[in-house]
Amino acid sequence: MIRRSLPWLLLVLVLVALGLRNRNNDAPAYDPRLVEREFFALGTLVSISVYLQDASQAAAAEAAINEAQLWLERFERRHRPWGEGELADLNRALLRGEQAVIPGELRPLFERSVELSKASGGLFEPRIGALVKLWGFDEETHLRSTPPPADDIVGLMQKLRAAPATLSACNPHPACYGAAAGVQWDFGAIAKGLAAQELVGQLAAAGFANTIVNAGGNLVFSGQRGERSWRIGIRHPRAPGARTLATFAPREPPQAALAVVTSGDYERYFEHEGRRYHHILDPRTGAPARGLISATVFAHDGALADAAATALIVAGPAHWRDTARRMGVDQALVVDESGAVQVTPALAARAGDADAELRFAEGLRWSVAP
Ligand code: ADP
Ligand code: MG
Repeated sequence: MIRRSLPWLLLVLVLVALGLRNRNNDAPAYDPRLVEREFFALGTLVSISVYLQDASQAAAAEAAINEAQLWLERFERRHRPWGEGELADLNRALLRGEQAVIPGELRPLFERSVELSKASGGLFEPRIGALVKLWGFDEETHLRSTPPPADDIVGLMQKLRAAPATLSACNPHPACYGAAAGVQWDFGAIAKGLAAQELVGQLAAAGFANTIVNAGGNLVFSGQRGERSWRIGIRHPRAPGARTLATFAPREPPQAALAVVTSGDYERYFEHEGRRYHHILDPRTGAPARGLISATVFAHDGALADAAATALIVAGPAHWRDTARRMGVDQALVVDESGAVQVTPALAARAGDADAELRFAEGLRWSVAP
């Protein structure tokens, strides 16, 4: 008798334990109006959340998410710097020393990137692909275990410096680049933010005004989650697992889709002799940026937020404020190597405890940057 009821007893205990855990985690209850999907794209985990007006829209939302996923696959294929696709073809033409025609579908990202690179004072540098590959931070190469030879870095830096920073006209085509044999274009620091913004727009056009698209920390959201606002976690650059640096829950749904983009030194890196070498390179030195380990930018423009988050990390502790200003970003926060957090005054105005829009994790040191 005891032997037969033991499995049941265990099952009951497990269920009780799970119930307690859920209660402790304050996990949200199942909500039939929330449709969510996660998949891999653009080299990272992408999640799409749609909050429905009415549960009967679930099938339409699934169809809209299918479309979004297909769009992202085409976008990825076009914009990856290596392997197959239009940008990869263009990069190969540059490697051969040819002038490359910018295909029409790639022109918006090229033009936007050139403009943002200029605004960042060259710290966001989309022509940096050859250096990214030399460091082994592209998705094709295995991660290195030591930095590349200094001579190789210097060689590529010289080529980058000598290469044009802008596109050129090339009748009958509207835009070309090069010849510039040392340049390989890489939109890794802007494409995810731009794509997230585009998908939120597409979902809105399909009738879904309450959405979040998150492409590996490049998040764009619109509207709210039913009667509550969306709650957005900003990743802590060092804490393992799910611990967040801060959570953001706007009091009012944003007037226009809002991007919250975080870049950090933890996405792709190797360690060598006690130092971390990560995937955000300083175009002035050819080596990983130093001083800041994470940057988060809030802006009503996913491409700007993504490019700026990268540029702030490159700018470092002494210059990130100026770089944000130059790029027209007024809401940002950065984390330095000691773990100290600095916030722009405009973002600090939304931060605090209890019912502030931006709430930092308990015990976190933060201050307002002048
Ligand atoms: P993530 O892709 O992890 O969100 P970023 O947006 O900062 O992070 O993009 C980093 C990627 O951008 C790198 O993997 C590389 O492909 C490219 N990259 C590295 N340094 C720079 C830079 N200074 N400017 C522009 N792109 C860069
Ligand atoms: Mg970026």
